[in-house]
This record gives sequence, C-alpha cells and structure tokens, in this order.
Amino acid sequence: MNHITHEDVRCLIIGSGPAGYTAAIYAARANLNPVLYEGIQPGGQLTTTTEVENFPGYPEGVTGVELMEDLKKQALRFGADIRMGIATASDFSASPYKVTIDGEKVISAETVIICTGATAKYLGLPDEHKYAGMGVSACATCDGFFYRKKRVAVVGGGDTACEEALYLASLATQVYLIVRKSFLRASKVMQERVFATPNITVLFEHNTLGLFGEHGVEGARLVKRKGEPDEEEVEIAIDGFFLAIGHTPNSDIFKEWLETDEVGYIQTIPGSPRTNIPGVFAAGDVADPVYRQAITAAATGCQAAIEVDRYLLEHGK
Ligand code: NDP
Repeated sequence: MNHITHEDVRCLIIGSGPAGYTAAIYAARANLNPVLYEGIQPGGQLTTTTEVENFPGYPEGVTGVELMEDLKKQALRFGADIRMGIATASDFSASPYKVTIDGEKVISAETVIICTGATAKYLGLPDEHKYAGMGVSACATCDGFFYRKKRVAVVGGGDTACEEALYLASLATQVYLIVRKSFLRASKVMQERVFATPNITVLFEHNTLGLFGEHGVEGARLVKRKGEPDEEEVEIAIDGFFLAIGHTPNSDIFKEWLETDEVGYIQTIPGSPRTNIPGVFAAGDVADPVYRQAITAAATGCQAAIEVDRYLLEHGK
C-alpha cells in the first residue's frame, strides 16, 4: 500500500544549522510561511562543538547547542513551522519543486532553500569517537583558543590544514602537521607560510594509528613511511588533534538538478544564493567551500530568504 502524502508549501527550508534557522527567521517575518525540516543533525555542525566565542552578539561566548536553540526559538517566535524529518529525494524538473521527506511525504514547494551543510571528514579511527570533545576537533577556528600555550596536531596537507596549522601556531606553543604524502597539496603561498613558521613541524609521510590519554588527548601514535622497509612507529605528545582532511557537502540528493563543483558543493551565482534553477537557493556550508563559519552561513540564509520573497513577488505567488 502506498502511504505517500502530499503538501503544498510556499517556502521550504531544508536543514537546521545557522543558515536554515536564519532563513526561517527572515522568511517567517516576511509572511512567507516557511516550513523547515531539521535533517539528520538538528542544529547542525555547531551542536558538536563546545563553546562558540566568535559569533557576534555573545560577548561571553555561548555553547553551540545554546546558540542553535536560540536561533530556533527566534524562528519559532515568528511562526516558522519547524519539523523533524530528513529530505531523501528531490525533483526540480518543474515548478512547484518536489522534495520527499523521510521517503514518505512529498512537499510541493514554490521555493526551496537548501541548507544541508557539510560534514567534516574523519580518519575513521575509534579514538576519534573516544576523544570527541576531549581533544579531537575538526575546526581550529572554533576550538583553537582552548589550546593556547599547548601542543596540537593537525592532520592533512591541503589549504585547510595549512590554514588551521597557521591559526593554531599563533595560539599553541607547538603545532605538528601530519601529512600522509611526502609533499603538501596546499597552494605554494600557504606552504611557504607554514615552512616559515618556527613552531610548526611538518611530519611528512606520517599516518595516525591512534590517540592516547587518561583525561582527554595526551598524545598520538603515528607510523612513518607505512609499508616501507624503514617503517617506524613514533609518538608525539599533544593536547589537541585537529582533522583537516576535507569536508563533504551534503548535496547528493540535489546533484541531478543543481550544478555542483567537483567536490559536490552547490554552485551559486557569485555573491548570491541563487542556483541554476530559479526559485531554488543554496545557503551555508553546502555551497561554501571557503569560509564555512556560522556567521557566513547565517548571512547567506538571510540572503536566500530575501531572494525567496522577491521570487514569489515576481511570480505572483
Ligand atoms: P583538500 O581536499 O584540498 O585536501 C585534503 C588533504 O587531506 C590532502 O592533503 C589529503 O592528502 C589529506 N587527506 C585526505 N584524506 C586523508 C586521510 N584519510 N589521511 C590523511 N590525510 C588525508 O581539502 P581542503 O579542505 O584542504 O581544501 C578544500 C578546497 O578549499 C581546496 O580547493 C582548497 O584549495 C580550498 N581552500 C582554500 C583556502 C584558501 O585559499 N585560503 C583555505 C581552505 C581551503 P593527499 O594530498 O595525500 O590526498
């Protein structure tokens, strides 16, 4: 028996990070009756960090969970319809656009704002779970401050890893950059900055085996030149372990319709959240490989809601 149900919506928002909630606040205040589905991780990536100290308006800092609860409350206050549910399929072949929720409900939306975010990649070591929030992080800008005058390691050899290592080097006493190859993939200028920073040590041809520590991370076990005759295990003493091996944008179910880059980030018209389909917008990390901050996500969520308002007006909806 087919249990698929249908609903018409003017403004559908998918995702509940800073972009999604900000879009909901603006859309609700503009009487666009937004319906927001929270997705796999209600509150988004920020709910996995501890203290957020760089979101403007919180001079004493705020926990990621509190910040997201505040944004949600603000959206609810203006009448946003916030629901649990995961978008599982999309059909943007014609307007109104169809988005399937939990495989069992089809929303026909005049406009869609995609705010599904990105997921930081992890190495897949059990210790990453064991020490989650206790020394393991995938965001130096978020958590670096807690490692002032401490020792940290960053994994990765791309621009993000170099940027995070440089940022951490301004706070920590010692930064190890753990690179699996014998060279950095990062741009030359970033490489030069890394090599010119005295408290960054680049460990080429090193892979991480595990972490150790009684009360949080106290060190990492590495293997140098894995599989080679001179393979060697080494230990480094660290207080923080940062992953910077890339992010995966959560765009899979939209790729059939929307232009994405080679990694999967939804491509928007520069300076706007407009995608290649009129009435479909993308905001926050799913469309942003560069800045990836809560405040920049919130800003693009705001832009998307304003674009939705204009689109509905122009199309007499
Ligand atoms: P990248 O994909 O460029 O780099 C990922 C790095 O992580 C690579 O060095 C890769 O190693 C390494 N890596 C991947 N998986 C593993 C693993 N399992 N174990 C160990 N190492 C691993 O991602 P970035 O996030 O660095 O950059 C994404 C994009 O954003 C790039 O285009 C980048 O240029 C851009 N960017 C630009 C910035 C700037 O201009 N300021 C700042 C930040 C990002 P390997 O090389 O061996 O594959």
